[in-house]
Amino acid sequence: MERYWNEEIETMSREDMKKLQDERLVKQVHHVYDNVKYYRDLMDKKGVKPDDIKGVEDLHKLPFLSKADLRDAYPYGLLAVPLSECVRIHSTSGTTGKRVVAFYTQNDVDMWDNCVARAITAAGGTKDDVCQIAYGFGLFTGGAGLNGGSHKVGCLTLPMSSGNTERQIQFMQDLHSTILCCTPSYAAYIGETLHEMGLTPDDIDLKAGIFGAEPWTEEMRLSIEKSLGIKAFDIYGLTETSGPGVAFECCEQTGMHINEDNFIAEIIDPETGENLPDGEVGELVFTSITKEAFPLLRYRTRDLCVLSHGKCKCGRTLVKMTKPKGRSDDMMIIRGVNVFPSQIETVLIAQGYAPNYLIEVDRVNNNDTLDISVEMNPEQFSDKVKDMQKQERALADAMKLMIGINPKVHLVSPKSITRSEGKAVRVIDRRKLHD
Ligand code: ADP
Ligand code: ZN
Repeated sequence: MERYWNEEIETMSREDMKKLQDERLVKQVHHVYDNVKYYRDLMDKKGVKPDDIKGVEDLHKLPFLSKADLRDAYPYGLLAVPLSECVRIHSTSGTTGKRVVAFYTQNDVDMWDNCVARAITAAGGTKDDVCQIAYGFGLFTGGAGLNGGSHKVGCLTLPMSSGNTERQIQFMQDLHSTILCCTPSYAAYIGETLHEMGLTPDDIDLKAGIFGAEPWTEEMRLSIEKSLGIKAFDIYGLTETSGPGVAFECCEQTGMHINEDNFIAEIIDPETGENLPDGEVGELVFTSITKEAFPLLRYRTRDLCVLSHGKCKCGRTLVKMTKPKGRSDDMMIIRGVNVFPSQIETVLIAQGYAPNYLIEVDRVNNNDTLDISVEMNPEQFSDKVKDMQKQERALADAMKLMIGINPKVHLVSPKSITRSEGKAVRVIDRRKLHD
């Protein structure tokens, strides 16, 4: 029997959802126009008035906001309520440049916590669960977001933060954690450490994991599920829209349901800005229709994915997004070919390697070079140079099939690639450093 946190919203008919979104959008556009000079100027420049927006079908008339706008308006330029109404600030991880800050009223925090509570419930969580939160706590939204959702559901919450991996496992055993929340790369590291401590999934009580904040592949999911003996659920979000919980996976694991009563999603062609239909890959754009303090309209996430409105077996009617395969800025153009780190991860896990790798791109004599260091498991190690070269060639050939160009693969010794306790850094592009 599927359980929902908010059955009425999660299974609402499409007509009712549209009505709810229309109503909230109209109100939100007025709120932003009246209170945010930065966005009012953008609307005026485009010749759009709040009264031109009567429903979701008019959304395309509104100007976009991008990360550059957020940096421009830093820190208070997009704030829509007096600071005295705000109770919290978070900041992006700064993965792709200068950090931006976001503000929350108490209602904003409650809305966010409820979104995360839907995700925890969809992963099977109830008030009887022990939820171990190994996302970083601080300005990063991961720790606070899952902590708030876990409290709402009534789980016994362990706000561990990330790091100190052996202690994580010790507490997991002693306090019988049943749900683990962290980045997928940290979950893989915890799984690896568990086995190194001579333990197996039978020695812990975990049943589910809620992992997000960075791209991860299906292959990575299977590898984590096996090493921890759990079912692994994806969760998506970004600081600009609140944090994790904007979208979450149900037991079907065929995409993440977007919390559409709070966030209207669009997919656009990143080049032209035109809306794209279901099934086409494009950039995800969000409009926050309930946020008070930091209500971004048509925010371009740079995350690339596909939307689908098809009925889900779990009973939820909320639109689903596919796992983002990376941001438009994660895409590397190497010798004219588009390459995503996730494609490389897919190949190496399929070939039996652990997801510990580093991609280095450079330019030598006007030619792009692609070097991929891949860590061996101890049993893959051979002291015969010939054997190693054969393995490297086999992996390079499999990569070429996937990405279309020939990388140089280097098998490196076990444990030589730094593990991640938060968002993993998988790519070093030295071409950017030369520019
Ligand atoms: P930063 O943009 O500095 O990394 P955030 O911590 O707000 O700041 O990260 C939000 C970004 O993280 C999203 O835009 C997306 O690129 C990535 N992300 C979050 N959750 C997922 C997920 N489940 N799968 C893939 N990428 C994700
Ligand atoms: Zn579903």
